[in-house]
Amino acid sequence: MTTELNYTAAQQYIDEVFTQLKEKNAHQPEFLQAAEEILLSLTPVFEQHPEYITHNVLSRIVEPDRIISFRVTWQDDNNNVHVNRGYRVQFNNVIGPYKGGLRFHPSVNESIMKFLAFEQIFKNALTGLPIGGGKGGSDFNPKGKSDAEIMRFCQAFMTELYRHIGPDVDVPAGDIGVGGREIGYLWGQYKRIRGAYEAGVLTGKTPGYGGSLARKEATGYGLVYFVAEMLREKSESFLDKTVVVSGSGNVAIYAIEKAQHYGAKVVAASDSSGYIYDPEGIDLHALKDIKEVKGERISTYLNYRPNATFTPGCDAIWSIPCDIALPCATQNEINGDAARTLIDNGVKFVAEGANMPSDLEAINLFLDNDVYFGPAKAANAGGVATSALEMSQNSGRTSWSFAEVDGKLQEIMHSIYTESKEAAEKYGFAGNLVIGSNIAGFVKVANGLVSEGVY
Ligand code: GLU
Repeated sequence: MTTELNYTAAQQYIDEVFTQLKEKNAHQPEFLQAAEEILLSLTPVFEQHPEYITHNVLSRIVEPDRIISFRVTWQDDNNNVHVNRGYRVQFNNVIGPYKGGLRFHPSVNESIMKFLAFEQIFKNALTGLPIGGGKGGSDFNPKGKSDAEIMRFCQAFMTELYRHIGPDVDVPAGDIGVGGREIGYLWGQYKRIRGAYEAGVLTGKTPGYGGSLARKEATGYGLVYFVAEMLREKSESFLDKTVVVSGSGNVAIYAIEKAQHYGAKVVAASDSSGYIYDPEGIDLHALKDIKEVKGERISTYLNYRPNATFTPGCDAIWSIPCDIALPCATQNEINGDAARTLIDNGVKFVAEGANMPSDLEAINLFLDNDVYFGPAKAANAGGVATSALEMSQNSGRTSWSFAEVDGKLQEIMHSIYTESKEAAEKYGFAGNLVIGSNIAGFVKVANGLVSEGVY
């Protein structure tokens, strides 16, 4: 009877908060999607922690501390003046300074920034390191821009952003469209304006100039370390498994590298123009040359490997039969239809390298069809975890070897997996890493909010 009453109170509380959230954010579908996924996981937590209801932690967690939006004016190589919109969402700093990447992509809007920053809170909590949740970026499209234009844009962006960030305040990094080159330009401008070498203000810097070894590889490697844990659970390994990876940025490239190292055959990769299928296994040297050295479209892979095929458009990549699917491109790239095709073709493991690449229908299909599913906030947390290791090195004015950072990354991914798995078991959802990771991350933030008191 008591459980029944608690359940009702917990369920009612969550429903009320979500209803209000939908009313207030009716035009932010990505944010509502991310929030719904987490809120749906939390009923058993509120049943066991009525103090979270008393402290109204849910309403406090779903409202960002602040959203900064600003004008970025820059000049192209022909002296034309352009205006873009910049953002920084400082969502929650209960566990540490706001932390999260910057995304430069024409799709960027407030909804996408908020979904990413919201996810980041729980992902960062899962790492066990002292970092809060934030995200930023701009609707600037880096495609086709010259190096000088990218530099001028980054400088203009930082000329406004610098006043809102700092090593103990908010620490941006990269995301889609922001890699080592952009972080370098942003860092240079911050240093110039501040007149101080505050290395810990940004992560993803170049090693030798405040950056951490293994940061570039960390999201992709961490994803594969996480999947290795999932495989081990089922007495399996990467050896001879067929893997489909979407994307061809940092996350995808280093996931492919580590999966191949463990003996998997990775047969596909993609960019926004389409995907390549190489049944003999992706030639990573060729892919790196195309993407990291030349910055070309992925179709040029056929010049290196004439037996491979290129298909324009990205949807059909999920029709390639595989044992393991690693979506590493962008949000909502796997919908219900794609999930059904993967399941019909025998996929057994899906783990998310991108943020929210599977929509809610796809996730439920995986969970209901015995596909072991590794959600983004756990599986791709290796990148931001290594960013926190970069912050530690910056604070200590030291730098660690590649092996040392990689070793810590492996330990972190192991403990994220274990915590997520155990939280799922504890709350009665054994084997469901979506619920497990949501609960494990949420509880850390909720406890912090309760201990801080109301403000
Ligand atoms: N953009 C990455 C993420 O989604 C990394 C963020 C960071 O290193 O701060 O987690």
